[in-house]
Amino acid sequence: MEKRKKTVRPFAVKVPEKKLMADLELLREKALELGAAGAEIIPANQLVVDERVRLKCIVPRCLRAGETPNCPPNAPDLDLVRKAFARYSWGILLKTNMEPIEDYAPGHLDKSGVDRTLLFHQKTGKIIYDLERLAYKRGYYLAMGLGGGSCKDYLCHGLVCQFKDSGRCRFPLRSRPAMEAMGIDVLDIIKKVGWDAYPLLDELDKTPCATSVGLVLIY
Ligand code: SF4
Repeated sequence: MEKRKKTVRPFAVKVPEKKLMADLELLREKALELGAAGAEIIPANQLVVDERVRLKCIVPRCLRAGETPNCPPNAPDLDLVRKAFARYSWGILLKTNMEPIEDYAPGHLDKSGVDRTLLFHQKTGKIIYDLERLAYKRGYYLAMGLGGGSCKDYLCHGLVCQFKDSGRCRFPLRSRPAMEAMGIDVLDIIKKVGWDAYPLLDELDKTPCATSVGLVLIY
């Protein structure tokens, strides 16, 4: 009988430094391949979890606050988030630039008639899902991806949250809290890697870019 080639890696509990660094670089490159405009390996201890960020979801009140299980005040408690994040060592931070910016101005519909503003974080959400999956497949069983914005927008296109309605999420593996819902100061971490983000208000023609940010904690 022909011997089966075993190429699937076992789950990793302790990963040697050299192998870990090579895997992180591979995942960083994969993020770019998947369409990220930038991707950086970051030490997890550079993430700042700040109550003010979490509070900004309800002051002033975001349209999505409380509307999904992932949106504050329903997102995980920040003490749990801090304790869990302290156990990670490394992550991949990535960004996508949404172009042209004008397409994401309120009221701009895409070909299927969906308001483009709802889809602002869609591309990032897809990349973090794929990257988390790849990291898991390479043995990093605690890999955890977080995107931006509400899953009610970029996954459910503004429809009533089915989880809140019937307890069955439409996208159980893709749905997750946003970085900001977990209290992560996103602007602080992107500054640390040398990126910029801009307010998207009324002068879109003078705004250099519109950026969506995601994070996959790996190990
Ligand atoms: S049903 Fe939609 S809005 Fe509700 S948790 Fe799932 S993805 Fe989010």
